[in-house]
Amino acid sequence: MRADWIDTTHPVHLHEQPIRGCTHATAAHVHDVRPGTQGCAECLATGSWWVHLRVCMECGHVGCCDSSPNQHATKHFHATQHPIVRSLEPGETWGWCYADEVQLGN
Ligand SMILES: [Zn+2]
Ligand SMILES: [Zn+2]
Ligand SMILES: [Zn+2]
Repeated sequence: MRADWIDTTHPVHLHEQPIRGCTHATAAHVHDVRPGTQGCAECLATGSWWVHLRVCMECGHVGCCDSSPNQHATKHFHATQHPIVRSLEPGETWGWCYADEVQLGN
């Protein structure tokens, strides 16, 4: 097990507010979700790799960032219309709304 595997036993909380222009940071799309997998769900299934991880704040899907070869977090948004993710990088709490392309927090 890698040292940077995601902790799937504790919920992830998003407390950051939109900087501007996002109406999705509501109970409909943001829950305290437990990450569904210890790394990118699709990359783990296919044996691929990632650079950074994002968690979907609506369903807990863990996907890889746009700097990763497969960009599964963005693909998850297009497949499900779940708009808001949060960084799963250590020490980072910022979020991102795909629908509005707006960052939440810093
Ligand atoms: Zn939004
Ligand atoms: Zn991936
Ligand atoms: Zn989702």
